[in-house]
Amino acid sequence: MENQACIFCKIINHEIPSSIITENNDFLVIKDIYPQAPIHYLILPKRHIINVKECTSQDVSLLGNMLLLTKELSKDLSAPQDYRIMLNNGYSSGQRVFHMHLHFLAGKQMSE
Ligand code: AMP
Ligand code: ZN
Repeated sequence: MENQACIFCKIINHEIPSSIITENNDFLVIKDIYPQAPIHYLILPKRHIINVKECTSQDVSLLGNMLLLTKELSKDLSAPQDYRIMLNNGYSSGQRVFHMHLHFLAGKQMSE
């Protein structure tokens, strides 16, 4: 269900602008506004869900499809087509937008 105070719900509903990479029925992929790497996308489920802590067994296909979407995104990367994915869960983990989103980072050598 849409959350009217949620910035990512507003982006999904095109109420505020974003740089859209791709979308399908369940997800919108946008560029992060403060990129931490040459390529920094956010994969947003279109359904408002706070984070993985709120997920249940009903969300197994959503979570799986979110991971598989990263594989599609990686096909447009230049070699070596490697990428980092990250998903913060809760304020102490660094989550600042409480609409689940998977960070997709690529285009540089990541620190270990
Ligand atoms: P997190 O800290 O995991 O909640 O990540 C939130 C991310 O959303 C940060 O990397 C922000 O740079 C990004 N962000 C916040 N507002 C916007 C926006 N309007 N468009 C794109 N990315 C945003
Ligand atoms: Zn939302």
